[in-house]
Amino acid sequence: MGRSEELFTRAVQHIPGGVNSPVRAFAAVGSTPRFIRKADKQFIWDVEGNRYIDYIGSWGPMILGHNFPAIREAVISAAGSGLSFGAATEKEVEMAELICELVPSVEMVRMVNSGTEAVMSALRAARGYTGRPKIVKFDGCYHGHCDAMLVKAGSGVMTAGVPSSAGVPAGTAEDTLTAAYNDLGSVRALFADNPGQIAAVIVEPVAANMGLVPPAPGFLQGLREITKKEGALLIFDEVITGFRLGLDGAQGFYGVQPDLTTFGKIIGAGMPVGAYGGRRDVMEQIAPVGPVYQAGTLSGNPVAMAAGLAQLRILKGHPEVYARAAARATELFDGLREIIGERGAPCTVNSVGSLGCLFFTPGPVVDAASARRADTDAYGLYFRHMLQNGCYFAPAQFEAIFLSNAHQSEDIERTLEVARAYFTR
Ligand SMILES: *Cc1c(COP(=O)(O)O)cnc(C)c1O
Repeated sequence: MGRSEELFTRAVQHIPGGVNSPVRAFAAVGSTPRFIRKADKQFIWDVEGNRYIDYIGSWGPMILGHNFPAIREAVISAAGSGLSFGAATEKEVEMAELICELVPSVEMVRMVNSGTEAVMSALRAARGYTGRPKIVKFDGCYHGHCDAMLVKAGSGVMTAGVPSSAGVPAGTAEDTLTAAYNDLGSVRALFADNPGQIAAVIVEPVAANMGLVPPAPGFLQGLREITKKEGALLIFDEVITGFRLGLDGAQGFYGVQPDLTTFGKIIGAGMPVGAYGGRRDVMEQIAPVGPVYQAGTLSGNPVAMAAGLAQLRILKGHPEVYARAAARATELFDGLREIIGERGAPCTVNSVGSLGCLFFTPGPVVDAASARRADTDAYGLYFRHMLQNGCYFAPAQFEAIFLSNAHQSEDIERTLEVARAYFTR
């Protein structure tokens, strides 16, 4: 038994499924997790010393590559002054100023400790501001694990949500309405059926949790128009796309301004950080200014702020990072398109900037229904082949992969060679 298997055998005794987050399990790809010992630049090493080209990047934060020296040093330096004070610090002011400068729709921002918390708090703010109970989300979009967001479409987008997790009260699920991604008609129908009841529409401006599904032309603009007309807020969940599709995220990339935005992942550079922000009149509803309560003992933690600030400052000073990561992504995804085209494989590739996904379905993949047509067993076979040959992809079909500034053309060439061998086997 290898060291990873040994650790996994121990892990399952005391950790549910042996992992602290389900996306780390390898069950969906018919394997057991590799335990990781270290990471540097575009590589990660498992406890047996195998090196992999990493296409997960901790699920998004590592846009500069792992173990980036200036970020590591900022963390070490901050840790030297104490780990947490439970009091206001200068770094939090600098962080808030920087976020508001980089993302024009954000006039005020509150730091939290995860993307889940950011979303949960933004929803509360939207409900507090509008005095309305219901939220519209899209089938296949992931917004963290708060109760209200663990809902997908039941037998159709017009029906009220059914919980997709045990433990979510039916009453909570009823206030979450589910529409189909890229389908404005389904959104209009929900507004028509629930007049004056919908507080907000929350959307991943690029859906990156059902594989990768870009917004159709006009989709985000349409959401902006509908919400404005209906007096509901538009929330962009930019936990993945924030500071990834550019300094101003997907909202800059597509030119649509939401009322509220949630952040996570890149904003903490690998430390547990989230944030939500937006219009001043909405954010002034938050305690201690307004009546919407939201708090956090470790929010704005000085070590986490040091990491996030260092990363955002590097991105601001070196916006060429985006072009470079996107160029490697284009090499990878165009290469995969070429291979599946040559082989006539029933696959399709979606990509935007440094994000993408290879679906084992001929496509097109434009929403959750078309994503679910993917052959997950075929994905599992492909995943295991790639992993055995040193390429660490997402251990599930319905996850995006993430390129970074550290990936090199040689890595992409090597990866395409391995993929070609899979498709010509
Ligand atoms: C990861 C993610 C979240 C949840 O963030 P956590 O830090 O895992 O709680 C929320 N929304 C989106 C779009 C995400 O990708």
